[in-house]
Amino acid sequence: MSEPIVRFRSVSKTYDGVTEAVRGLDLDILPGEFLTLLGPSGSGKTTTLMMLAGFEPPSAGRILIEGRDMASVPPHRRDLGVVFQHFALFPHMSVAENVAFPLSVRGVPRALRARQVAEALSMVRLDGLGARRPAALSGGQQQRVALARALVFRPAIVLMDEPLGALDRQLREEMQSEIRALHDRLGITVIYVTHDQAEALTMSDRIAVFDHGRLLQLATPPVLYEEPGNAFVARFIGENNFLPVEVLGLAEGMARVRLQGGRELEAIPGESVRAGQPGWLAIRPERIAIAPVRAEDLSPAALPGRISETVYLGDSVRVRVTLADNVSAVVKRPIAAATAALAPGAEVAVAWEPEHAR
Ligand code: ADP
Ligand code: MG
Repeated sequence: MSEPIVRFRSVSKTYDGVTEAVRGLDLDILPGEFLTLLGPSGSGKTTTLMMLAGFEPPSAGRILIEGRDMASVPPHRRDLGVVFQHFALFPHMSVAENVAFPLSVRGVPRALRARQVAEALSMVRLDGLGARRPAALSGGQQQRVALARALVFRPAIVLMDEPLGALDRQLREEMQSEIRALHDRLGITVIYVTHDQAEALTMSDRIAVFDHGRLLQLATPPVLYEEPGNAFVARFIGENNFLPVEVLGLAEGMARVRLQGGRELEAIPGESVRAGQPGWLAIRPERIAIAPVRAEDLSPAALPGRISETVYLGDSVRVRVTLADNVSAVVKRPIAAATAALAPGAEVAVAWEPEHAR
């Protein structure tokens, strides 16, 4: 395994002596990976990037880039490209002048500059638009100029803080694949910030989930989705049902739990699950099997319920089922597996495999 290109070692940041924006962050980022910091607003993502870029000093801990402590290294000596959501282009400068800016700051000779600017504009598919003013470009083109400006001096690491937040959905999805393709082609390390879990899942090699300044889980998209370590991650990534349970016991990597209404089930225990305590059983809507049934011929593994709502979504149907004690669960079926029997009022049985319940 290669040495991390970036290391956060017990890094904390407190603003004004009160707001603990980042708490005890330990995070190793590997060269060439696309790593996303994901979390709700105020969870410390921007602060983490700002400390790495050198715009905010950590209150405690150390940040290393390629093994070097960054404590006394100013931003322009950190070899990082940055793209921010509102990192405005200079409106009075042409596109080419905007992209050339980091090169002039670094004292790159004029002749070389022109060639590198042309290469960077070509990289983001803006060839021939160098003479325009930013105002004469669409939102997506402006964001590509910002990208070209971050890439033009060929930094090893590029930081992006919600770079697509201002774009409409279709353009955002196009830019997501363009940014990912650029990352793959250039072999750079990208540290990307978003609050959009779908964006994080599609773009990233690994995702670091933040809440209240803490790193809660660091994993690949499939592991985060299928094996969330705690209730926050299970709730924040994708859709999940949460059924109230009592934990009866733990044995052989499984937890035995009791649902309201008395039914006992098995589930995979999360990080902080203890016997004798209340908890939540999380089960994804697409992992629940559902069949129309009469209560008297229910199999012992299935739970009886009644459909309260059916919503047609084009590619799938979402069925809300009321279980015992008014607990409800959402079931998602691909449209090809949906039947007319899944109508409101129908008596149904729902079931799932224990390894999908957490
Ligand atoms: P995110 O990018 O995840 O939305 P931030 O890192 O911007 O989160 O903010 C984390 C916390 O730090 C929030 O409570 C925010 O209000 C606070 N904060 C951020 N920047 C400053 C600042 N310059 N001064 C004081 N508090 C700040
Ligand atoms: Mg932010």
